Amino acid sequence: MALYITDECINCDVCEPECPNGAISQGEEIYEIDPNLCTECVGHYDEPQCQQVCPVECIPQDPNHVESKDELMEKYNIITAAM
Ligand code: SF4
Ligand code: SF4
Repeated sequence: MALYITDECINCDVCEPECPNGAISQGEEIYEIDPNLCTECVGHYDEPQCQQVCPVECIPQDPNHVESKDELMEKYNIITAAM
């Protein structure tokens, strides 16, 4: 399951450099996560790094992008191969 950033985001910039997949970027009003690049940090870390650092805890799981651990690992393999 990819994560997404809610409108409670205060644009603090802390999460963007923490993402190992480059999935986080500044959107029009708040930061955004590209669901095609977010692996929930599977393949890199045990915990989603953005969730760990967000001071307002506005990065929940995205119910529109439900994926199993195996699917996230497959996504990780595809992203890593493309890097
Ligand atoms: S969970 Fe990991 S891969 Fe997904 S956006 Fe956050 S830091 Fe990036
Ligand atoms: S860490 Fe949280 S509040 Fe800060 S930019 Fe990222 S999502 Fe927004």
